[in-house]
Amino acid sequence: MKYDYLIVGSGLYGAVFAHEAAAKGKKVLVIDKRPNIAGNVYTEKVEGINVHKYGAHIFHTNLKHVWDYVTRFAEFNRFTNSPVANFNGELYSLPFNMYTFNKMWGVVTPEEAQAKIDEQRAEIKGEPQNLEEQAISLVGRDIYEKLIKGYTEKQWGRDCTELPPFIIKRLPVRLTFDNNYFNALYQGIPVGGYTKMVENMLDGIEVRLNVDYLENKEELDKLADKVLYTGAIDAYFGYKLGNLEYRSVRFENELLDKPNFQGNAAVNYTDRETPWTRIIEHKWFEFGKDENGNDLPKTVISREYSSEWKLGDEPYYPVNDEKNSKLYEEYKKLAEGEKNVIFGGRLGEYKYYDMDAVIDSALKKCEEEL
Ligand code: UDP
Repeated sequence: MKYDYLIVGSGLYGAVFAHEAAAKGKKVLVIDKRPNIAGNVYTEKVEGINVHKYGAHIFHTNLKHVWDYVTRFAEFNRFTNSPVANFNGELYSLPFNMYTFNKMWGVVTPEEAQAKIDEQRAEIKGEPQNLEEQAISLVGRDIYEKLIKGYTEKQWGRDCTELPPFIIKRLPVRLTFDNNYFNALYQGIPVGGYTKMVENMLDGIEVRLNVDYLENKEELDKLADKVLYTGAIDAYFGYKLGNLEYRSVRFENELLDKPNFQGNAAVNYTDRETPWTRIIEHKWFEFGKDENGNDLPKTVISREYSSEWKLGDEPYYPVNDEKNSKLYEEYKKLAEGEKNVIFGGRLGEYKYYDMDAVIDSALKKCEEEL
């Protein structure tokens, strides 16, 4: 059987492309090396709780067309991300807002908070050159040291002075009591889990799991006219220009025989000494209830440990610093020479994409391609 497209990877990029291609009457085959679909948004039910097996995913977007798109495949609940920071047992509200400033400095009004920030950010002159300077110039040194430095250095395994400023620009600073982490018009978690949402996208499409493309490339390539590859771009080329750096994540999951461990979906451990970066308590993504609205008696937590990626690990976060961005550009040139292969997604484009951006990018690619 001959397919129009062989889609390598059943994460969001692959699933959207597969859905759109099939809708246009193309014959598509989706393969994935894992035993499950949905890539890193995969969720698995444990004791009635949808566990985000490859890390917490909170859908948020300002793009109406992307929201309209995803809500075709799942109903979304009204979950709003408001992480708590734990710095050596001191708790702070995130992202940085009036609750945070009040706890940090005892300030009560927005003017007082602004004055404190202005006083502290004055130490940075000119355009911030790295994440540390960017952070201090956004919120001042106190917040940088208690809520940013330790977390960031654990997450990226690099000194804040060696990281690009843009990473921290993801974090809003607000002189209001709004502790909604994302500046997004639309936000929520798909009811029933992400796996079900991706299953719906792939409805009626042939999917083969436990198939490693790169190990069987020659044979698999014969099956289709074109390949959409969403794996790591450097792996595709056998790392021949050297490997791009990634951060990997390891999760220690625990089922606890109690209803409430930390009272929130996400608690970030922002000190340097605690070895994990955060703990996710999955049930709070769905308000602690099962699908029938009953309270769940148990809870599942995941401690998240960040590590440098090495061969054989799952890559999670591209390290978009200067060195890696340059190397990526070289790989991109090679990719442009592969006429029948499209590279897409977080790993295929070596880009710290959020879910909505991945979907937007996949939809744009579909318009171009299909
Ligand atoms: N960050 C931080 N303190 C926090 C949470 C985030 O300094 O408590 C910074 C840090 O630099 C991190 C970036 O914000 O790398 C993005 O963090 P986030 O947790 O949003 O990343 P995710 O893993 O959710 O994509």
